[in-house]
Amino acid sequence: MAKPMRVKCPSCGTEGIWTEDNPYRPFCSQRCKDKDFIAWADEEQVIGGNSDYDDILSEDL
Ligand SMILES: [Zn+2]
Repeated sequence: MAKPMRVKCPSCGTEGIWTEDNPYRPFCSQRCKDKDFIAWADEEQVIGGNSDYDDILSEDL
């Protein structure tokens, strides 16, 4: 059997073991996975929101 590989959770930095059993890898937990996804989604929303706002202003002018 291969030695377990250690990985750092990209969200909280906690060092954990990468296993096929961990559905959240490379994150340490569901919580960290959700946290990272929410941060990414928020960023997308801000960019999209600003773009739409600019379009509306352009049309009015
Ligand atoms: Zn984590």
